[in-house]
This record gives sequence, structure tokens and C-alpha cells, in this order.
Amino acid sequence: MRLTFLGATGQVTGSRYLVEAAGRRIMIDCGLFQEREYLARNWEPPPVAIDQLDHVLLTHAHLDHCGLVPRLVAQGYRGPLLATRASVELAGIVLRDSGHLQEEDAAFKRHRHQREGRRGRFPEVPLYTARDAEVALERFQGVGYDQPVALGEHVTAWFHDAGHILGSAVLELHVREDGRERRLVFSGDIGQWNRPLVRDPAIVASADYVVVESTYGDRRHLEEGEPEDILCDIVNDTEARGGNLLIPTFAIERAQEVLYYLSRLVWQDRIPHLLVFLDSPMAVNATEVFLRHAECLDDETQQLLRSAQHPFAFPGLRLVRTVEESKAINRIRGSCVIMAGSGMCTGGRIKHHLEHQIGRPQTTVLFVGYQARGTLGRQIADGASEVRIHGQTHRVRARVVQIHGLSAHADQDELCRWVHGFARAPRRIFVTHGEPESSQALADLLTAQGSQRVQIPEYQQTVVLE
Ligand code: ZN
Repeated sequence: MRLTFLGATGQVTGSRYLVEAAGRRIMIDCGLFQEREYLARNWEPPPVAIDQLDHVLLTHAHLDHCGLVPRLVAQGYRGPLLATRASVELAGIVLRDSGHLQEEDAAFKRHRHQREGRRGRFPEVPLYTARDAEVALERFQGVGYDQPVALGEHVTAWFHDAGHILGSAVLELHVREDGRERRLVFSGDIGQWNRPLVRDPAIVASADYVVVESTYGDRRHLEEGEPEDILCDIVNDTEARGGNLLIPTFAIERAQEVLYYLSRLVWQDRIPHLLVFLDSPMAVNATEVFLRHAECLDDETQQLLRSAQHPFAFPGLRLVRTVEESKAINRIRGSCVIMAGSGMCTGGRIKHHLEHQIGRPQTTVLFVGYQARGTLGRQIADGASEVRIHGQTHRVRARVVQIHGLSAHADQDELCRWVHGFARAPRRIFVTHGEPESSQALADLLTAQGSQRVQIPEYQQTVVLE
């Protein structure tokens, strides 16, 4: 049996692994490379002869785990694409949007290069189109959690809950070869324990070989108080000052998590019943997927959905799809809450709301997720006194706050907890999906705690698993 690491090596994007066992070639994840210095890898020819690839299994619907699927299908892959049913629906939202963005991006570059009379590093054609995404989506097959899925005669796969986002999975493969069975487990992205909405990460019974992510392999999440209490103070403060609360929003999971907290505060009368706009068609669509796949949610949330205190239907909540409705929000008098994408303010409707409101001292801008270097969100979060939005300079007079505690990723302690959950210690552990320092810190800690043969693989490295 051979395992090849085709991404998420020394980086947090481009998750992709190839398992060759029992005469089968199985790809685990097919993620987009998103760091600037690695974008060229998205354009490389497929890492395995397409006609020899038998199965593709996806851990979850984040772009860095499924974002290269439309390209793989456009390159000729005709086999099944397996993911949990909720992941299939979320991947539909994510990949269609990605196809549109790839097209827009290519058009934008074409114009700029024409204007500047030069050629860029990458072709001025989209990596894939919205149509390519549509074609790829037809090949998806939904599977249930904890059900055996036969991949040929000698390999069986299981999808276990990863507790990261709706539908996210830890993948377990049982391979029968040369008269014995060996077990491989891929963590995908592991979530935190005791989070709202999704269940806790599943502990897998046993594994011979484990591939574990290390996004937060060198960090512990800050304890700064309950997110719900912090949000309560922020909403009340903003209302007292007569301003609006703008929340740059990630469409999947984070948006629903913020709605969950707001709903609790409303139902418990801890905040005034303001209008709350979810001004993002993508987030509205994702919220509907949550409702259609309530079976993936934790027991507490399922009870809430059946009760009068519904987390996604509370007094004041408005789901906004059209541009006209979105523009109308700016004419509203009195305080309101506006959740709009994109989460890092790199595009989308949040930029229009910021344009109107960031210069007002009554406004509050609340960040609930990671802001990458070089984004408008990061500039604002870092306290810039002026920012450029749509080509205009704006003074930042709004109050800017952050809640750090809403990460969808396990921290160092929780990653160790997950790895130590196997009843028998794995024979080998491969640490991936982290910045080099994070992966090293987790590998060192696991070794110090007694794990044998912990390794940080390199890009395109192949290991033989005895
Ligand atoms: Zn993820």
C-alpha cells in the first residue's frame, strides 16, 4: 500500500492525498491551493493518470478540500465523487460560487494585462468555470455517516463526524491486502468540542496509519469569555449609541453560528429585538442546507429546531437575497444588525455597507473570523485610520471589535485529544495541513507524549505502508 501527499504539506490549503492499495487508486480530498506562492500548483497536470483513478472521497465542502474537483472532472475524471449528503449540498454552493469567481478573476486579469501590455504568471483563462462546477456536481454521490461504503472488493470506507462544519467527515479506510487488514484514518479538519450546531468530533476506534491536520498545532484558543456574552454586550452597546452592527460573515457555519447566538440572546430578551439582516444569498442558501440536514446537528440544536426558540427564525431576522433588498438596508433608521459577505471584506455586499457606515462613530464593525494578511478586513481589524473601498478613501470612525472564540478548528490540546483517542496507538502518524511551525509543534508534542514514528511529509512524497 502506498500513500502520496499531494498538498496541505507545509501549508493549510490544497488538501489532496492518493492511496494506492488492493489494486485501487483512491484520492482523498481534491482541494484548491489558495496561498499566493502555491497558486501555480492548481495549474499542474493531474498528479495521477486520470483513467487510473478509481474513487475520489471528500472530507468536507471547504474550498481547500474540494475546490479542484471541477478541474479534475474537466480533465477527464469520470469516477464517483463521494461525500456526506450535507457536504454534497454545501459543495454545490461553494463550487458554483468558485467557478463564477474564477471566471471573474480571469476576466479582470485579462483587462489589467491588456492595459499594462504584459503577460501574467498564469493563463488568462479561468481555472474552471461555473459550468465546469455544474458538470462536476452531477458526479457527486452522497453517503451517510458511519455507513460502510465499498470501494471495490477489498477496500471499505467510513465517514465519521469531524465536528468542523456541517457534513464534515473524518475518513476511515479498511484495506484488505495480502491476507491482512490495515486501517488508514484521515482527519480532514477537526472541529472543537462543545460547539453549537455541529456534533463533537468522532473518536475513531483504531488505526494503523493516521494523517492528522495541524492548523492550530502550535496554539491554544484564547479563553476570553463566552462568545454569547461578548456578542450580547456588543449589540447592546451599539444600540445604545444609535448605530448599526456590521458583521463580515463567512457563509458556511460561521454565519449560522452567529445566528444561533443572536437567536438565544433575542429569545432570552438579553438584547433589544432589532432587525437582523443576513445579507448574503450564499449564507441564506447554506442556512437552508442546515435545515434540510438537521440530522447532522447536535441533539441540543435539533431540540431547538423543534421548539419555539428556533435558531434560524427569530423575531427581526430578515434573509436577504436580492440586490434591491440589500440596498434598501441603508435607508433604515435606527439600529440594526447587518451580516454580509465576504468574511474578510475582500468583496461582496459587506464592502457596500462599510462604504456607507465605516465613517460613522455610532457604527460597530465586528469580526468573527480569521482575517488574512493583505485583506481589507485585516486592515480594519488592525486599526487602520483610513481604508480604500471601491477606489475611495474612507476615514475609519466606527468602533472595531473582534470575537476570537468562534474557530471551527480544534486547537493543539484538542488535536492531541483526538489522536490519543485511538484504543491502540497508530503505527505511524503523518502531520499535514499546517504552517511549518504548527505542524512541527504538533509532531514534537505527539512524540513527547509517546506516539511512535510521527512524520511531517513533503509535497509529492510517497510512503510505502507495510
Ligand atoms: Zn475546513
